[in-house]
Amino acid sequence: MNVLVVGGAGYIGSHCVRQLIAAGHTPVVLDNLIFGYRAAIPEDVPFYSVNLGNESEVGKILKKEKIELVMHFAAYAYVGESVTDPLKYYFNNVAATLHLLRCMMGCGVKKFVFSSTCATYGVPEKMPLVETMPQAPINPYGQTKLDIENALKSFAHAYGLSFAAFRYFNAAGAAEDGTIGECHNPETHLIPLAIDAATGKRPALQVFGNDYPTPDGTCLRDYVHVDDLSRAHIAVFDKLAAPGAQFFYNLGTGTPTSVIEVINAVEKVTGLKVPHTYAPRRAGDPPALYADSTKAKSELGWVPQFTTIEPIVATAWKWHQSHPEGFPKN
Ligand code: UDP
Repeated sequence: MNVLVVGGAGYIGSHCVRQLIAAGHTPVVLDNLIFGYRAAIPEDVPFYSVNLGNESEVGKILKKEKIELVMHFAAYAYVGESVTDPLKYYFNNVAATLHLLRCMMGCGVKKFVFSSTCATYGVPEKMPLVETMPQAPINPYGQTKLDIENALKSFAHAYGLSFAAFRYFNAAGAAEDGTIGECHNPETHLIPLAIDAATGKRPALQVFGNDYPTPDGTCLRDYVHVDDLSRAHIAVFDKLAAPGAQFFYNLGTGTPTSVIEVINAVEKVTGLKVPHTYAPRRAGDPPALYADSTKAKSELGWVPQFTTIEPIVATAWKWHQSHPEGFPKN
């Protein structure tokens, strides 16, 4: 299938591009390179540096490349910033996505795979999280993703759009060959920060809170390998053949892992100490978030290949060793 990967130069999008090629599909990348890196995309993959809100340019690409399905990863994703600058998040994550969808409908491209988030659930009452639990985001980032999920439902009904929305837990790790990996600026995620603290590239890691009601007092999260996420996105393609079909899936391993356990895994994999200090809780962090992904497993035949934290960290370490400064600037 000819697939337009919007945000294909970013962390999850670039891994998905590789998995699409491995599965025999033909990816085309659209990315404005604000957060993405040209170097994350294989040279021979058609690449367009265009804003997704530019309907006339995006329309030309859809036609020229004979696109049959759009995968959409391009979004701002800093929760704290979404609280202080929500306009930025609503314009990029909601308004620009609506432009993309209107353009698709106009061009007759009616298959869509959307990158959503477990942040749409807010602070859940029960764990593990299943797809039918109430969605009540506690920050504008989660709200913008939920807004698009809801718009997609209406578009499926009105225009025959068929779509899947994947609610990710903590995307982690890197391509197994170490060629691409996580490269955020600024970096806020635990695993790359812990690795950088271990190598001395950054100061000691701050552990945000050790007084949570969890076994070791630190937050529990569900770290899922970025290639496993990507494979789920491709496994859903067959289900999108019927006009108006709609699917929602949680993607996580279902294994809760604490911040301390991540630090231990980084120390074991790297053979280095992770200097760390205890800091106050970070605002908006729920004590525990982990997925029940039974639905993705049973309906898509999705089997995560990485089910524990150490092999995930090992792929991140391989990437960090071969690219200590991340990707070259665009
Ligand atoms: N965390 C931490 N120190 C850091 C960054 C993250 O203790 O410097 C914790 C954070 O509080 C959360 C977990 O690590 O419990 C994962 O955070 P991350 O930002 O990687 O992902 P999130 O769960 O926020 O999507």
